[in-house]
Amino acid sequence: MFQLLRDGRPRTRADLAAVTGQARSTVAARIDLLMAAGLIAPAGEATSTGGRPPATFAFAPSARVVLGVDLGATHARLAVTDLASTILAQRELPLLITDGPDLVLDRVAETGAELLREAGRSTSELAGVGVGLPGPVEHATGKPNNPPIMPGWDNADVPAILGDRFHAPVLVDNDVNIMALGEHRTAWPGVADLLFVKVATGIGAGIIADGALRRGAQGSAGDIGHVAVPGVTDVVCRCGNIGCLEAIASGLAVANKLEGAKTPADVVALVRSGDVAASQAVRQAGRDIGAVLATSVSLLNPSMIVIGGILADAGEHIVAGIREVVYQRSLPLATQHLRIVTARTGTQAGVLGASAMAVDQALSSEAVDRLVA
Ligand SMILES: [Zn+2]
Repeated sequence: MFQLLRDGRPRTRADLAAVTGQARSTVAARIDLLMAAGLIAPAGEATSTGGRPPATFAFAPSARVVLGVDLGATHARLAVTDLASTILAQRELPLLITDGPDLVLDRVAETGAELLREAGRSTSELAGVGVGLPGPVEHATGKPNNPPIMPGWDNADVPAILGDRFHAPVLVDNDVNIMALGEHRTAWPGVADLLFVKVATGIGAGIIADGALRRGAQGSAGDIGHVAVPGVTDVVCRCGNIGCLEAIASGLAVANKLEGAKTPADVVALVRSGDVAASQAVRQAGRDIGAVLATSVSLLNPSMIVIGGILADAGEHIVAGIREVVYQRSLPLATQHLRIVTARTGTQAGVLGASAMAVDQALSSEAVDRLVA
């Protein structure tokens, strides 16, 4: 019943009894418990069809808060949000992931506590913490697995370390998955099948299928950075294989091909300044990414591909390159309603997704049952 109310629409006891098929008395008792827990609140009266107008109830997103944490290679973004992922307090800070889990998670815990105070909420109101890391994560345990740019983090027990500090459940995922979740929930909640592609220093994808994030058996679904681009035989990737997408079309790979660019941000600046070579290189990267995405389209049949990460800031060039190849290489049935666009949530995608992941856990049927028991 509570899951129904999560959409925020006010409903009467009679509405809820009709939809759930439960007895009016059962519904009334459940409403009392959810009210006592603060998860729902009275939402005024429905229009009456005669007699006393019935009371309505709606989800109360301010009942509790969660902490969303988006850790990158050189910076972190943290936000305290309510249960509808509305940001109450947030901060961005420089932070080197190479400092290792002890130092980094200590900073996260300190900053999180400060943000809670700033939002006027206490640790006891914290229903969960969601964390995104810039490397492969086994979602079930929350432990990073051989993350290439995170020395010292392999197998680190992030949920236990942060759980000790916050006394709340901690969920961990890779940065691309939380970005996919943040972009989907915020910008395209009605789209059931969406592929989110991050093009930055590396390349990765997050898969939304049937409305939910799909992580695969070990949490590595969507890791398209090391798929081989057809026809490339002369580029060796840092993983040791030849012709990986990431070694050819990532922001770093494009920067390496251009004079005057060292980082993906430099590439974006060149494109914005009208540099023809940079625009062409980004467009070609788009085509190479498109070649791999055409296969993904055949496998998953998404109705939307959203391009995020810093290279998406280079404007239409990358999307144009991707469209060119995807529409050409995929069957008409898969592409006739396929939209390929740039992300709307920008730098907020990760922190919003980390919040959404924590909220989903905090408001799952099992968690709500425990709360009102
Ligand atoms: Zn590779």
